[in-house]
Amino acid sequence: MLELKPGMKAVAVGLGKSGLAAVQYLHNLGLKTAASEYKQQITAEEQAVLAECGAAVELGGHTPEFFADADLIVVSPGVPTNLPVLNAARSRGVPVVGELALAAGRISVPVLAVTGSNGKTTVTSLIGQLLRSSGKKTFVGGNIGTPVLDWLREPDDAKAAVLELSSFQLEMAGAFRPNIALLLNLSPDHIDRHGSFENYAEAKRQIFARQGKTDIAILGADDPLVASKPVTTAGAVLYFGTQPDCRAKIEGQQVRIESGFGADGTAEFYDLSATRLSSLVNAYNAAAAILAARAFGCSVEGIKAGLAVYQPPLHRMTPAGEINGVCFINDSKATNIGAVQAALAGFKKDVVLIAGGRNKGGDFGELIPAFQQHVKQLVLIGEAGPDLAVAAEAAGIGHQFAADMADAVCKGLAAAKPGDTVLLAPACASFDMFNNYEHRGHEFMRCAAELAAALR
Ligand code: ADP
Repeated sequence: MLELKPGMKAVAVGLGKSGLAAVQYLHNLGLKTAASEYKQQITAEEQAVLAECGAAVELGGHTPEFFADADLIVVSPGVPTNLPVLNAARSRGVPVVGELALAAGRISVPVLAVTGSNGKTTVTSLIGQLLRSSGKKTFVGGNIGTPVLDWLREPDDAKAAVLELSSFQLEMAGAFRPNIALLLNLSPDHIDRHGSFENYAEAKRQIFARQGKTDIAILGADDPLVASKPVTTAGAVLYFGTQPDCRAKIEGQQVRIESGFGADGTAEFYDLSATRLSSLVNAYNAAAAILAARAFGCSVEGIKAGLAVYQPPLHRMTPAGEINGVCFINDSKATNIGAVQAALAGFKKDVVLIAGGRNKGGDFGELIPAFQQHVKQLVLIGEAGPDLAVAAEAAGIGHQFAADMADAVCKGLAAAKPGDTVLLAPACASFDMFNNYEHRGHEFMRCAAELAAALR
């Protein structure tokens, strides 16, 4: 456990939700706090929190002087880990850590932690639902919702914590040790930040690094990149997917838990067809979450009750209406190649795909087989449009450019016939045209609704 003593000086690098949570947590423990932020401005709310903690603040960059007397440096998930001030601190022997390293050893309930390139939010929130429906009060947070340090600062009487963890958080997780850790899948993402796919994958695999003999590692067996390298864990390894050795096996719209977790060890079956998890993508998420909940000790009945009421979060394969027999689906959160491949896998060759935005460093050439199998035509938006057009041409499918989302929705409808689907799955970040992926998804749904009304 990292030593945190009153009077020590801690500097948070990068604010946002996570940095602010670190400042408040450390201030509450009696440490002197400071915050260094590369942006020129911070919000009034951030200013107020920092003032309340008596934190010194530098804006517009990170100067060596500001870090000179730091005993501890806490780095926010978005901040590059090789900043000169961080390297200098390391060479002085000053701990440079992330929020999970602060939390390590300070969480008094069992922790279930979820990482992967895609499906983290869905699986994290689903495990939370399954635990709650099994009568276990559960904290759900981390990379979604409440930062773990905010929860530790004002803990409730939760009996378990389910945390969504990003590669950035895991990169500097120190001694953080989840009792049950899940690696759902690996697909190139955030290469711009991690430098290479291998660095990114290694950061994700860190979720297992500190596990002990009594812990459990849950892995996606069908994912070639997960399967390509064994993970280092002292715990038991369980798989989900369609492979013969999977403990949680996907069979159409049902999940079968092999040699169940009950006293008699008979197989258990969970039907997804009447739930909101019936798509192929979500069958994987359900298998992972059921396995985790069952391994944690939830009852079969509790899990079934949770599956029945679970609502997936918005902008993930969210139905966005129908116009003249053409279905519109909003998968705005599909910001990388793997998410788009997974989304398309559930369709025949009847998809008009709206894609584009800001490229996060992925290779669109990897989409060519999925384009060939599932896509009729591409409607391209944003900065990455021309690069996606190259992939469309290589796949032998037509494409057209759209000026904005309204134009994309119109062109998408025009290219579709009844029974087809217009799918927004951009394979890109949104920031060139929108505030965030939610804004992009809402725009898509609004434009589809307006077009439907205009044609009525
Ligand atoms: P994350 O939190 O990892 O970004 P989300 O649950 O928010 O994951 O989903 C992100 C995107 O990935 C969405 O487009 C969603 O449809 C897609 N997705 C969800 N689950 C999976 C999965 N198991 N495999 C591949 N893509 C998935």
